Amino acid sequence: MKIDLTGQVILVTGGSSGIGKGIAIHAAKCGASICVVSRDEEDMRAVVKSIEADGGTASWEHADVTNSEQVHEAVEKTVARYGRLDGVVANAGTNGTWAPIDEMTPEQWRKTIDVNLTGTYLTVHHSVPHLRRQGRGSIVIMSSINGTRTFSNEGASAYASSKAGQFALAQMLALELAPSKIRVNVICPGAIQSEIHEKTNRENLEKIETPIEYPEGDIPLTGGEFGTPKQVAELTAFLMSDLSSHITGTPVWIDGGQSLIV
Ligand code: NAD
Repeated sequence: MKIDLTGQVILVTGGSSGIGKGIAIHAAKCGASICVVSRDEEDMRAVVKSIEADGGTASWEHADVTNSEQVHEAVEKTVARYGRLDGVVANAGTNGTWAPIDEMTPEQWRKTIDVNLTGTYLTVHHSVPHLRRQGRGSIVIMSSINGTRTFSNEGASAYASSKAGQFALAQMLALELAPSKIRVNVICPGAIQSEIHEKTNRENLEKIETPIEYPEGDIPLTGGEFGTPKQVAELTAFLMSDLSSHITGTPVWIDGGQSLIV
């Protein structure tokens, strides 16, 4: 089914790489004007260039999602540029540090919670006034199977807690914002191809790992092959569109069945 996002303005945090980049490019193909918000200017420029080369409309704004002023400025500049805001994808995130709980430092803990959970709060906090003014809107929060269905990645306690927080936040906000016709849904991906896996800081996990091996691979639908940013982008476009006009407060696991066994 063709998703039509013509006329929509959508802000995507963490849109400079991986899943967010896939979402930005796909939503632009569906007709939306995109603002990519992230920290890496070169990567953001490249995403905008590729959307424009494809005939789409896009811009970028620099912001660290843990910084309230920077997020506020990015949202305001987006609205000033396009005159409106229809959709927000709170996708920026980090795996942070995975380590035994007695070794994880308070700084490592706070960093993960700050980027994933507080960053999501700040993105939504600064965007909602514009969605309210529009009289409708769609927010998608990028959580994970970790913290929502999967609790077996030992050492990922800060990450899973941040993702569980996003999951709760999405459902709280779905109810709070329903009278303003703003829908809030949460996507919970399993393993998806992106750079996040190499960027994970893994410390001494052999001390706490549960020795389980799945001979056929741990993603039932693919035999172990990761999902793609494009697959998550297609789901996000659906949740941004009128095809999902009665869906709010709903988690969607997109993991090839991974979270059913691990
Ligand atoms: P990625 O590392 O490729 O992309 C993360 C993006 O977030 C980048 O654009 C990065 O610049 C941005 N970002 C990180 N910290 C930021 C900050 N403080 N301020 C602004 N931007 C910041 O990773 P990805 O796999 O594309 O992850 C995107 C989201 O998907 C994350 O929330 C992640 O937790 C979630 N997720 C990913 C997977 C997976 O397997 N890839 C699985 C489940 C959930």
